[in-house]
Formats: sequence, structure tokens, C-alpha cells
Amino acid sequence: MSILFDRVAFIGIGLIGSSMARRIRRDGLAREIVACARRQETLDKVVALKLADRVTADPADAVKGADLVVVATPLSAYAEIGKRIAPALEPGAIVTDVGSVKGAAIRDLLPALPSNVHLIPGHPVAGTEHSGPEAGFAELFEGRWTILTPLPDTDRTALDKLTKLWQAAGSKVVTMDPEHHDKVLAIVSHLPHLIAYTIVGTATDLEQTLQSEVINFSASGFRDFTRIAASDPVMWRDVFLANREAVLEMLQRFNEDLTALQRAIRWGEGDKLQELFTRTRAIRRAIIEANQA
Ligand code: NAP
Repeated sequence: MSILFDRVAFIGIGLIGSSMARRIRRDGLAREIVACARRQETLDKVVALKLADRVTADPADAVKGADLVVVATPLSAYAEIGKRIAPALEPGAIVTDVGSVKGAAIRDLLPALPSNVHLIPGHPVAGTEHSGPEAGFAELFEGRWTILTPLPDTDRTALDKLTKLWQAAGSKVVTMDPEHHDKVLAIVSHLPHLIAYTIVGTATDLEQTLQSEVINFSASGFRDFTRIAASDPVMWRDVFLANREAVLEMLQRFNEDLTALQRAIRWGEGDKLQELFTRTRAIRRAIIEANQA
């Protein structure tokens, strides 16, 4: 694989940042990697895992001389990071991110950045419930989608370069309008997480005896929810606050459909239940056929 960037700077190097860094290193996609995190403990791990050529706690120092800057922190840190990196960015640099909400990413980064850099927000639709640099792996993006949400005036060459990097990391790349991205992700990712947090929370609130039975019999459906509900609390707090409008809209629809199901159960309308469960089973088959299971 050929070198695509000279120096890539990661601002935040947890699950997603470190997975990208691992892939870039493994396949020689950049000459140099610089990693930035807040805590010394994280920087020490990055050094021990040999994920970067240089580490620093100062975002401005990290982006100096970088032709690609990847913001890979929780969304609530973006505005502050934008301000701190702006004066140190190289003219012509590409600034991207991996955050799960795109409207808020643009709102928080764009105003701070100088006009001579290219902001191309991105979102790899891949992840696990684990966090930190030790949780990453080079194959995380293999066969998974990465959504880029370029701005109306985004430079074509810069977009092509970033697309090539994600493709080299194993991703299928698609571009999308940021608002559309946030709506789609609200239903396929954010709402399912909210439901999982709710179910696991409800079970936790039940009495002690019932709780142990919940654990014992978890394989009957609950277990899949507990995996999702083990996702990073800070990241997910930020996702719901950053994508408030779209999540509330999807939640409203969900509530209506849930009420309809509640009514069908109350009135013994088995045909309605069976008709829905038949349709949803077909969706699962479609996901398996699209290799996204
Ligand atoms: P993570 O494993 O928790 O890593 C977060 C990184 O950001 C750490 O290096 C952390 O450094 C740094 N950081 C945290 N708060 C910061 C702050 N206020 N200022 C500066 N740096 C800060 O997170 P992740 O799972 O990689 O997620 C990163 C981004 O990717 C999020 O925006 C998330 O929405 C997006 N994303 C996540 C997934 C997923 O499944 N996890 C999937 C797709 C996209 P310290 O350790 O020093 O605090």
C-alpha cells in the first residue's frame, strides 16, 4: 500500500483513533503518526503499544506539520479542541473526525478553523463496547461503512485523499449530507442504544432476587442488550445531547409504534403481532445478505 499522508495527528487516541493508527502503521499509509491525549496514563499506553512516533498532551503541538488531523475524542471536547489546534494547523491540512454525530461536529469545529484547511467530517460505522488505546485493532473497519459528510465547498482532491485512506483501512466509503447522516444514525444506532440502556436500567432497578435471575437467564435476549448498554458512558451522553432533535423525533415514532403493540397484546390481536414479526425477520435476513451482521 502506498503512503497517503506525511504526518497524521490523532487528537484523542482511544478505540477508534488507535484502530486507525494501527491500520496506518501496519500498512504504511503515513510516514509519521503523532498522538495526543489528556492523561499521561493514556500517552504511556500509546508509547508501550508503539501506536505513534511521538506523543504529546498539547493538541496544538500535535498538529504542527501534520497534513492530516483526526479528531477522535468524545463530541463534547470538539469546540475546545478546535480553538486550541486552529493557530497551529498547516495551510492545506485536512481536518477530519470520527464522531457519531455530524451536525454538531461541524457546528463545533468549523467556526474555529482557518479558511486554508479542509474540514471533512467523517464517521466510521464500526465499533465495540470497549474504550481506550488498548481496545483498538487494525481490522475494526474491515468491510464496514465509513460515512463522510463533506461541506458544500469541500475540495475534491482532499476528499479523494481521505476516501483513499478509509478504503485502505478496509472501509466502504459513502458521502452523505450531515443532517441526513444524523437522522439515519438516530434510528440505526442511537435509539437502539437508548432502548438497551433503558432495559438494563429497568432490570437493575428490580429487586435483588429478580436481578440474579436476570443474570442467570440472560441468554434469552437480555444479554445482547447488556453488551450494548456497556458502551462508553461519556461518549453516549455526548451522542444524545449532540443529536437531540433527531433522537427525539425517532423516539416519538418509536413510542407510537410501541403503544400500538401494547394495544395489540392487550386485545389479543395475534395477527398484528405476527405480521410485524414476519416483516422484522426479513430485515435481519437482508442485513446478513449485505454482510453487515
Ligand atoms: P475512547 O476510546 O474513550 O477514547 C477517547 C480519546 O479521547 C482518549 O484518547 C481520551 O484521552 C481523549 N479525550 C477524552 N476526552 C477528551 C477531552 N475532553 N479533551 C481531549 N481529549 C479527550 O473513545 P472512542 O470510542 O475511540 O470514541 C471517540 C469518538 O469516536 C467519539 O466521538 C465517538 O462518537 C466516535 N465513535 C465511536 C465508536 C465506538 O463504537 N466507540 C464508533 C464510531 C465512532 P484520555 O484517555 O487522555 O482521556
